[in-house]
Amino acid sequence: MTHRLKHRIKKIILVKNLSDPDIKGRKLCGFLVDNEICIDSGMCRKEKIKTLIHELAHSIWDDAKEMDVWKIEGLLYQAFSKAQKDILWRHIKTARMGKIPRK
Ligand SMILES: [Zn+2]
Repeated sequence: MTHRLKHRIKKIILVKNLSDPDIKGRKLCGFLVDNEICIDSGMCRKEKIKTLIHELAHSIWDDAKEMDVWKIEGLLYQAFSKAQKDILWRHIKTARMGKIPRK
């Protein structure tokens, strides 16, 4: 994460069986709340990295439509080098397990 993103995103939280706090029973891969990104802990490395990119995109382009964020996620995942993905992975790997923060 760049210096700038560190100011934008305070932390990453790995959540077991992540689901939408507003819609009962709706499973989620990721969730952005305030400046914290929740990622479902049960996914593989690739899915976690894609989810982090997805939630970062929501944070940066906060008025973007969901469909456009999916496109950004795909484009960035393809564009990032292995070294860049390793940096994102390091942030996920060192994240703590926890619960979705209450608003
Ligand atoms: Zn989204």
